[in-house]
Amino acid sequence: MLDLLLTGGSVITMDPKRRIIEDGAVGIEGNRIVFVGTAQEARGFSAKKTVDCKHHAIMPGFIDTHSHGGHGLIRASLLGNTSDWMAAITHVYNHYAYDEYWYYEGRISALDKLRSGVTTAVCFIGAQTRCDDSIFAVNHAKGYNEIGVREVVCTGPCHPPYPHKFSRWVNGKRIIQEVTYDQMIDAMADAIRQLNHANNDRTRAFVAPYGLLPSVSPSFPTPSDKLPLELSETDQHHLDQLWRVADEYDTRIHTECYGGSIHTMIKAKNPLLGPRVHLEHCSGCSFAEQMILKETGTGVGITFQSTTPVIPMMHMGIKMAIGSDGPKLLGNADMFQCMRMTKIRHQDDSIFSGNDMWNLPPAKLLEMTTIDAAQIIGWDDDLGSLEVGKKADVITVNLLNSRMTPRFNIVDTIVMLGAGGDVDNVFVDGRQLLENGKVVTVNEEKVLMEGHEEARATLERAGLTEFMNAEPGWGQVRRYPSKARFDLEWQREDGGYY
Ligand SMILES: [Zn+2]
Repeated sequence: MLDLLLTGGSVITMDPKRRIIEDGAVGIEGNRIVFVGTAQEARGFSAKKTVDCKHHAIMPGFIDTHSHGGHGLIRASLLGNTSDWMAAITHVYNHYAYDEYWYYEGRISALDKLRSGVTTAVCFIGAQTRCDDSIFAVNHAKGYNEIGVREVVCTGPCHPPYPHKFSRWVNGKRIIQEVTYDQMIDAMADAIRQLNHANNDRTRAFVAPYGLLPSVSPSFPTPSDKLPLELSETDQHHLDQLWRVADEYDTRIHTECYGGSIHTMIKAKNPLLGPRVHLEHCSGCSFAEQMILKETGTGVGITFQSTTPVIPMMHMGIKMAIGSDGPKLLGNADMFQCMRMTKIRHQDDSIFSGNDMWNLPPAKLLEMTTIDAAQIIGWDDDLGSLEVGKKADVITVNLLNSRMTPRFNIVDTIVMLGAGGDVDNVFVDGRQLLENGKVVTVNEEKVLMEGHEEARATLERAGLTEFMNAEPGWGQVRRYPSKARFDLEWQREDGGYY
């Protein structure tokens, strides 16, 4: 007997033949898919629970290949589109967030993912990785696990200087600590030891430094004349330690990459490249660097904000997938939005037309958020498509609405017109997390309001209340933030580095 039968919907399998089965069905036993076929064929099965999927698409859950833990309790609170945003949030994470912040944020972030049909999310812990202890990654994973969404926790050493200052709060008192590079590596290894394959393999943990090399900018392309000619001792130690831990725990490596850094890194005997690595953005990478990505089989994640030559790199044969880079302003967990924004941002590769609408067709966008995404995070044996034997991470999308009617080309309709709010049912490991639009694993209102309170307390503690009540720009063509600019000088005096 099946545990679960989803029947009567349009099954978008994302299997190797990309079958779409009208009036189809998916059968689940335990945490695995055991049947994919027509509703007619499924009629002979009995199931403990049957979900009528009339007017719904039945699809694999989305995989967000790059997002950030921490931002879920910031979002629009800190003028997210100003250049000081990164500095402000990094300082909050490193010096004003309690250990529990990461648990509360993990729950809200996971709820956001769940409601958009994301069943697996790759999450950096922080913006530039909070890495002085394993507790932050562990608490974040605890939050995700409570909601039930699959998480790949990414943690590792932050960018220099080393040692780096961080603050912990004990009984309401701030204690500033100097943390060495090797202590960060130990914290990363401890997080991976505790989390990789935890929660019945709903949690994995990757080695994830912030940036490829300590000597190269982790956030922007580096001009060729500013690149170091050779790897420094710190760079080489960095690569040695990252691979040592990745090998010890048999896990993968993920980080952000910007132009120029591969030119320097390729000189190492053990560069962060290859089929066990996926690099985010690769903005500003030269043609030679793109060739290195291709030749080494390195996966590349992009977002709508990446300035990456996406179309040429895909023609070259580089495996690429879409991430949200969120949650933040202009980028939440809604992969429907992410697919469309990626298309708008990246479809142009012609110097003549300026806008080649045939690039990045809806089917490719859907591959880049499901099966291609599973491949670049090394989890396609279990995830990314609806096939017998794979893990039962399944969503249903309600098509019976004014936006998606008529629906003659179902993939075009869903990708170009769908929204996170159309996701009605979500199953991870065969367990139902969302039922007819209602979260069933937790009391959603309680989780949201506890998160809101944690955010308020943290931002107040960090002295950022003026950002929480910023003038929105009524009647102005351009918004002019008044005094509400983050004070970098104060941050430096307070122990920050940005
Ligand atoms: Zn990012």
